[in-house]
Amino acid sequence: MSGMADILGHHAATTRLWEALARDALHHAYLFEGPEGVGKHTVALRLAMAANCTGEADPPPCGTCPPCQQIRAGNHPDILVLEPAADRATPIISVDQVREVVRIAGYHRYGARRRFILIDPAEAMLDAAANALLKTLEEPLAGTGFILVATHASALLPTVRSRCQRIRFSAVPEEALQAWLEDRGIQEAGIVARASLGCPGRALSLADGQLQARHLLRDRLLAVLDGDIGDIFAWSVELCSGKRQQWRPRVAEVLDIIDDLLRDAVVYAGGGSAPLLNADAPEVVAMWAQLWPDGVTRCGEAVAEAREQIERNVAGRTLMDALLSRVAKELGTTPEARLRRLGPDRA
Ligand SMILES: [Zn+2]
Repeated sequence: MSGMADILGHHAATTRLWEALARDALHHAYLFEGPEGVGKHTVALRLAMAANCTGEADPPPCGTCPPCQQIRAGNHPDILVLEPAADRATPIISVDQVREVVRIAGYHRYGARRRFILIDPAEAMLDAAANALLKTLEEPLAGTGFILVATHASALLPTVRSRCQRIRFSAVPEEALQAWLEDRGIQEAGIVARASLGCPGRALSLADGQLQARHLLRDRLLAVLDGDIGDIFAWSVELCSGKRQQWRPRVAEVLDIIDDLLRDAVVYAGGGSAPLLNADAPEVVAMWAQLWPDGVTRCGEAVAEAREQIERNVAGRTLMDALLSRVAKELGTTPEARLRRLGPDRA
């Protein structure tokens, strides 16, 4: 590795950042915004390496000198990554975590040319935590810079956004992503590239067996929705067993799957040319497309409501029972479902 040539896409963003670095004119606070898994965190770490590299590479970093290696291994004392604590039921960055980073930022550096404080995802700072950061974010010590990473920059306090220089990251073109995945020997690179919506990070985790697992989960969801109310209640119990930390990601994945199906329904019904996320199951997409437009809106609202309820600590079973019943009801009113109820001889 050398420079940023191996970073997929984001040419405008990296050019701008590396030019600022070469002029010794990096801003003290950047906001990297763009879809999840698109490469924001990767570019942030690469910039930290480039700014501290002691090797000869042009453009930096070399990837092999001691600072580069330390940053890559995640143990450079001047490169701080602030992220939600893993043991919390709700993934937030607490006020205490922010205060600790602010405290460290007030000390001299351990020896880095430039200290970086990476906050990812910045939306995980609730208002109190963000407010605790403001003063330091505005005027850090010389040689200290912030990089805030966000999928939904609009969720940040305006006072945080206004202190940052915004760098936008957009999806990587599908063909480029497919070629990149093929270079890495990933099977079915075309399908994975399409399903990841141009986000290399998402593509890699999908390729890592998740695509298959996700399809299985989707097929289970579809079977439950096609069953009766007893099937829904039984699956809610199964999904939401264990502690909140355990069921929360499972439920979030089901919500993502429903969102993906609704998104495909819109593409299909609208006759759009965008690739389908569920391209492996066109008959399912055609069925969901019958919900368009009002049923799609209602189901989308129900999913959004379920996401809010998770944040408000509503019991998992309660919200899944309500959501699945709602979606099943919508699907039950499609012409296809009515035909099925009537039976083949009356169809
Ligand atoms: Zn280096």
